[in-house]
Amino acid sequence: MKRLFFLLYSCLFVVLSMQSAPIGTPFCPSATKVLFLGAGELGKEVIIALQQLGVQVVAVDRYANAPGMQVAHRSHVISMIDADALRAVIDQEQPDYIVPEIEAIATDVLVACEKEGYTVIPTARATQLTMNRKAIRTLAAQELDLPTSRYRFASDEDAYHQAINEIGLPCVVKPTMSSSGRGQSIVRDPADINKAWQIAAEQGRGAQDGVIVEAFVDFDYEITLLTVRQKDGPTLFCEPIGHKQVNGDYRESWQPHPMLAHVRAQAESIAQRITDALGGHGVFGVELFVKGDQVIFNEVSPRPHDTGMVTMIAQNLSEFQLHARAILGLPIPSIEQYGPAASAAVVHEGVSENMQYDITRALTNQQTEVRLFGKPCLTGTERRLGVTLARAATIDEARRKACQARDAIEIIL
Ligand code: AMP
Repeated sequence: MKRLFFLLYSCLFVVLSMQSAPIGTPFCPSATKVLFLGAGELGKEVIIALQQLGVQVVAVDRYANAPGMQVAHRSHVISMIDADALRAVIDQEQPDYIVPEIEAIATDVLVACEKEGYTVIPTARATQLTMNRKAIRTLAAQELDLPTSRYRFASDEDAYHQAINEIGLPCVVKPTMSSSGRGQSIVRDPADINKAWQIAAEQGRGAQDGVIVEAFVDFDYEITLLTVRQKDGPTLFCEPIGHKQVNGDYRESWQPHPMLAHVRAQAESIAQRITDALGGHGVFGVELFVKGDQVIFNEVSPRPHDTGMVTMIAQNLSEFQLHARAILGLPIPSIEQYGPAASAAVVHEGVSENMQYDITRALTNQQTEVRLFGKPCLTGTERRLGVTLARAATIDEARRKACQARDAIEIIL
């Protein structure tokens, strides 16, 4: 009898401890409020997923009418690297969850907020470590002993030349503070060494933070392993996503990328170790290079990943819906992958504040979708304006369909 009582008590305890806070009603005192720091195309999709679950979302970005703002309940335009402005918005909104969507944020403010009891997704420390290539590389290579490319850090020009000498050519030079290939160069020829330093200094977020010089990895393929840390339940892995980058920026992705079982096990082990070290709940994009049987850690985003946009057509729960559930501590019983699928980024260059898109021809194929981000302007440089998604019988066919749809979009400036 005593044992039965103990068993019932334990079951009740497990069920109760699995319960998340109830979701309130937007604009009411009960509202479950999320403050989104960054309102780009990835944020927009997470905001939609949160709103489907009845969450109130406030979006923040440095410019008006950012994609996520167009679907949020409310928005603020501030520079998120301005610590005072960021603090003021957090004090005003007092959100239940603070969700950083970009790297360029005054993360000291997030650390302070977390200490005061705010929930930062996944954690304030994770956002601090991952915005800084030196910090995340040190954690991965030195503390966790994960395989990475050989590397050196350099904070001035003399140290940079020394680093290039030690690593040798070809090498990849990346600003310590940068993302999406900004300020990044592959140096193959000694004549390009000085230029790479200049590009990193001009385009990195903080020129004073220097660069990382990495040995060029002649990988067979690279993948993103979307990894979901959930409140109650094991860490989940999506099917591997293969991708193609141009100048460090994503252009195409596909899922599932075929991998040998033992290589995939290595990839999952690396993803588990790095995400455990970062902690918290949410989706992480773990970027890995694969050469033969060896898996090499490149970097990790503590949030959905641009290459993961393919999951909008490839899975029962997209990476954005997974992130929303993980943020709220809701269960994720399974992730179903529907078979070969691909995405292609719609990238355009020009000048306009009134773009128009003819997507008719892009949608003529079956199992093909288009997402337009609604970005308000083009200012002369290349910008990602949308993405096409396709499913087919094979990966090659899905990629072909996604690219065909991308090329069929007419953009009128
Ligand atoms: P990252 O900003 O570190 O994600 O780099 C962007 C892209 O540049 C990667 O997805 C790779 O395609 C390429 N890349 C970065 N680092 C290396 C490296 N050490 N060797 C070869 N390619 C690299």
